[in-house]
Amino acid sequence: MPEGEVDVEGKTCAVVGCDEPAAKIVGRSFVPALQALKLRLKNRGLRHIPLCKKHYKMAKEALEALRGG
Ligand SMILES: [Zn+2]
Repeated sequence: MPEGEVDVEGKTCAVVGCDEPAAKIVGRSFVPALQALKLRLKNRGLRHIPLCKKHYKMAKEALEALRGG
């Protein structure tokens, strides 16, 4: 399946302490952004990381900032 088209149904956000339903599945490229936000993942070995709407938005913005805008 192409990136972004992984089924999010039944999945919850991978961030420790967050139990929101997943809105998006992101790839490993988001890991540095999550680390920059000091968000820890429940499972570090995931290839596809389910994120809730809030954490996806935060991570996306952090990733853009890391890439220099
Ligand atoms: Zn979350």
